[in-house]
Amino acid sequence: MARLLIEGGTLLGLTAPGDIRPSTDLYAQDGRIRAVGPEAARLAAEEPGPVRDRVERLDARGKWVLPGFVQAHLHLCQTLLRNGPENLELLPWLRGHVWPGEAAHDPATMSVSARLGIAECLSAGVTAILDMGTVRHSDALFEAAAASGVRYVGGNVLMDDPRTTPAALRASAQEGLAETERLCAKWHGAENGRLAVAVSPRFAVSCTDALLRAAAELARDRGLVVHTHASENRGECALVKERTGLGNLAYLDAVGLLGPRTCIAHAVHTDEKDFRLLAERRAAVAHCPSSNLKLASGVCPVPELKRAGVRVALGSDGAACNNVLDPFREMRLAGLLPGVRHRPGPLSAFDVLRMATSEGAAALGLPGPEGFAAGARADLVVLDPDVGWSLPDDWSAEPYGAIVYSMGRESVTATVVDGVVRYRREDPSVGGVKPAPPEIREAVRNLRTRMRES
Ligand SMILES: [Zn+2]
Repeated sequence: MARLLIEGGTLLGLTAPGDIRPSTDLYAQDGRIRAVGPEAARLAAEEPGPVRDRVERLDARGKWVLPGFVQAHLHLCQTLLRNGPENLELLPWLRGHVWPGEAAHDPATMSVSARLGIAECLSAGVTAILDMGTVRHSDALFEAAAASGVRYVGGNVLMDDPRTTPAALRASAQEGLAETERLCAKWHGAENGRLAVAVSPRFAVSCTDALLRAAAELARDRGLVVHTHASENRGECALVKERTGLGNLAYLDAVGLLGPRTCIAHAVHTDEKDFRLLAERRAAVAHCPSSNLKLASGVCPVPELKRAGVRVALGSDGAACNNVLDPFREMRLAGLLPGVRHRPGPLSAFDVLRMATSEGAAALGLPGPEGFAAGARADLVVLDPDVGWSLPDDWSAEPYGAIVYSMGRESVTATVVDGVVRYRREDPSVGGVKPAPPEIREAVRNLRTRMRES
């Protein structure tokens, strides 16, 4: 199994603000963190000869190492549907662009769509994805995830209601759930546990009551993650109310779908009752700010959800409604959006960074110690603070704002999943120029020192 020694990085553990260890080695073994600090290099050196020769090394001197970004809501099947029609709301956009596009896939186009989306994610520091597939060709998604090395939780989408779904993209409840069970037998727990199957009813509007209840039962019986959309758009909420007499989340609860392994994408149109319900059921929300703005859905009340005790993660949604898969852009928006309605500061940069990393991992149902504790999953991103014009100076006090508001995918120099380097950029310069050479850093330091002293 894999061995990885990350040398000399500044470790940002994200368990609490200030959990920072400068110039520290990290040793990962069989996908888990074995040791940090002086013991890491010693363990690597003490491995028996043939193993020692195969230890992968990553020079992280001058760089920041932190838990990898998690996309808690994605549609890899939509990567090739990027840059479609603009200025549509959810339901006409689904009917006119996304559903015909998903129905037109064959295994070959699905494979390209998945591989392209995963590459985009890995190169932006994403280590894990909660993906909503489509009705057919799900094996192509799992095959792409298996080959790429990314951590992947996904499954076939369930849509069976003839009143609301097109014939070309519909499967009966029996057919859809049988497909989820088939995927489970083939992929759940594969690749050393890196792949997992989620029960994925698309949204209440696309599913019959019988399907939703059976899906909840399957998820409960098998201990699977439930991944669905809810309360994204006013028209969607009105449809659910008209058909069930209940609010969207109250209805999902009534059919048994809300629980500690449930991740709800969006939750934009929610109120105090919904916050309390989500908190009581310990269900997570995947906040997708770019998608919500692009489809004019509204703004998820993240500070209120968090205050009620709801776990909130981040997602890019599909490339068809974003149109990029980039955790930095979602972090930036997530941090800025509460400013529309609140005084400054309802979400700190540290809060946002946790939403993009450890809160996301929990939403994907990934248990285990956090940060750099021994036994924590070695899913990591390495950032170069000298790239991207972020100019961090006294970062030892506040590196989080630099990551959330200044850095971007160009700052990512390596992405590690399960203790294996799955993306590595040898030359992290932009067009051959590294924007923060030593003289710039020194000037920043001098200027800020004078500001503090004045
Ligand atoms: Zn979505």
